Amino acid sequence: MTRVFNFSAGPAVLPEPVLRQAADEMLDWHGSGMSVMEMSHRGKEFISIHAEAEALLRELLAIPANYKVLFVQGGAIGENAIVPMNLLRGKSGADYVNTGEWSKKSIKEAKKYCTVNVAASAEANGFTSIPARADWKLDANAAYVHICSNETIGGVEYHWTPDTGDVPLVADMSSNILSRPIDVSKYGLIYGGAQKNIGPAGLTIVIVRDDLLGRALPVTPSAFDYTQQAENDSMLNTPPTYGIYIAGLVFNWIKAQGGLAAMETHNRTKAALLYDYLDATDFYSNPVAKPDRSLMNVPFKLKDAALDDAFLKGAQARGMLQLKGHRAVGGMRASIYNAMPIEGVRALVAYMKEFEAANG
Ligand SMILES: *Cc1c(COP(=O)(O)O)cnc(C)c1O
Repeated sequence: MTRVFNFSAGPAVLPEPVLRQAADEMLDWHGSGMSVMEMSHRGKEFISIHAEAEALLRELLAIPANYKVLFVQGGAIGENAIVPMNLLRGKSGADYVNTGEWSKKSIKEAKKYCTVNVAASAEANGFTSIPARADWKLDANAAYVHICSNETIGGVEYHWTPDTGDVPLVADMSSNILSRPIDVSKYGLIYGGAQKNIGPAGLTIVIVRDDLLGRALPVTPSAFDYTQQAENDSMLNTPPTYGIYIAGLVFNWIKAQGGLAAMETHNRTKAALLYDYLDATDFYSNPVAKPDRSLMNVPFKLKDAALDDAFLKGAQARGMLQLKGHRAVGGMRASIYNAMPIEGVRALVAYMKEFEAANG
């Protein structure tokens, strides 16, 4: 068996010990004689898996007791609609900060449900920085302020938490959740699809402050009503059971690595290897303002785009896959989530140097 270094933006690399444990437990989970996939979500076995996953997530993120944790379906794109349906709470508009492709999608979807005030946008500089908080034009009557904490495509990330006063801050954290410690109490709601840093696609995580519940639009589908899901321990409908199980294994793995502080050190070390090299050469470039560079997704371009195909072929021959950049921005992108070992980044940088020497 050969495992590659998988730089995919998502679904993405998972920790090898997690995959091994899942394989070992595939046919018979803990003597139950069943695969987790075969279990009733209401049986005692799965209820224990679910409870442990939630407890571990609460521990890792130090989630305060007045926040509900939901394990649901719909993905982050689903949440783009589900958030306004649940959080407008009788208000007519919400503030959105536009930092790139994923913010744009959130804005477009929210416009179906409310008036969107784009409080700040980095469009003018090609989404290469996070707009300074001092330049945001927030609406005091907004139902919430929405940000994308890490733009998976553009590679810009917030390394600070915006203060939005009494207006709840909502963050799409799909691609940087659990990459470092955060202060959950500064957010009204955090959501993310699991397939970047947590587990398989199909599981969506929502962390919501409980005072924001109870006022969903009447048209909100019950499966997407946070209050109903919270009241039913995310089991109003059948939750994505296998995804929750794998997420629990990943949470355990993160804890065993030393928790989110250790993840941050690991992620900063990996990202620095790559950015330091990008900054030291003019054969490759990354356009993002240094303070706003993503620790998770590192887009870069070759000086001559005509070399892109050769670069990708050589990478593939060396066991490094999924480095092609998103079609919206072109070039390359290395996604280096929690589960990407430092050896993967070292191998990539070594190959980039080799390729530059041969073609520079
Ligand atoms: C991947 C991603 C999404 C889309 O998630 P889906 O699971 O496809 O709905 C949304 N936002 C961000 C920041 C992402 O990285």
